[in-house]
Amino acid sequence: MRKLIAGNWKMNGLQAELADIAAIADAVSAHLGVDTALCVPATLIQTAATRFASMAIGGQDCHMAVSGAHTGCVSAEMLADAGAKLTIVGHSERRAAQGESDADIRGKALAAKRAGIGAIVCVGETEAERDAGQAEAIVLGQLAGSLPDEAASNWLSVAYEPVWAIGTGRIPSVEDVAAMHAAIRGALVARFGEDGAAIRILYGGSMNGENAASLLAIANVDGGLIGGASLKAEKFLPIVQAAA
Ligand code: PEP
Repeated sequence: MRKLIAGNWKMNGLQAELADIAAIADAVSAHLGVDTALCVPATLIQTAATRFASMAIGGQDCHMAVSGAHTGCVSAEMLADAGAKLTIVGHSERRAAQGESDADIRGKALAAKRAGIGAIVCVGETEAERDAGQAEAIVLGQLAGSLPDEAASNWLSVAYEPVWAIGTGRIPSVEDVAAMHAAIRGALVARFGEDGAAIRILYGGSMNGENAASLLAIANVDGGLIGGASLKAEKFLPIVQAAA
């Protein structure tokens, strides 16, 4: 399966940082065997999508409605209109800070499909949940609730992101990543049949140039969702190279 390396810029990036996006677009352009994407702040989508064609430009969230009285929100149609090819939905930072439920995330994923863009649906346990031996049950529960019945490999990916690994420099053991990705794969195949085997499962959480090769070599790790290391070309490129 072709791997997908997607960057998540979170709430970082002014017009001045378009130079960094340009450097990233240039760096990844030689790696045609890997799908690459950069999910940037909404304010940068249109300019980035217009200027840089070597990778997909994405959003980081969308509203589930097409339009209407939702002050401050951005619809999937608006993302598509700005040139986005995909969007992240259900990132743990939004689950926590915006109180997004699995049902909300399912609606957002469906909105992405409706708008003709891809979705990366995020799931992941907290440290307390892992310590309590509940990691797999929590993740499979989020997966069941967050994926719509229409999920298919041509528009949807799953990102397994242990909350305690995001931005901390800590990563799970190879065995724990393998076990969780196998469990997610099993759930996808059970629900979506043959196509469930083709839905990409990304790992996210402190992936960097040093650990990417070993993480990406694990069975059922079909790419990465990268936060901090996606902000600069010199940090993002080694991860893309490790996926090639
Ligand atoms: C993320 O926020 O999706 C993420 C994986 O962040 P980081 O790579 O910085 O841990």
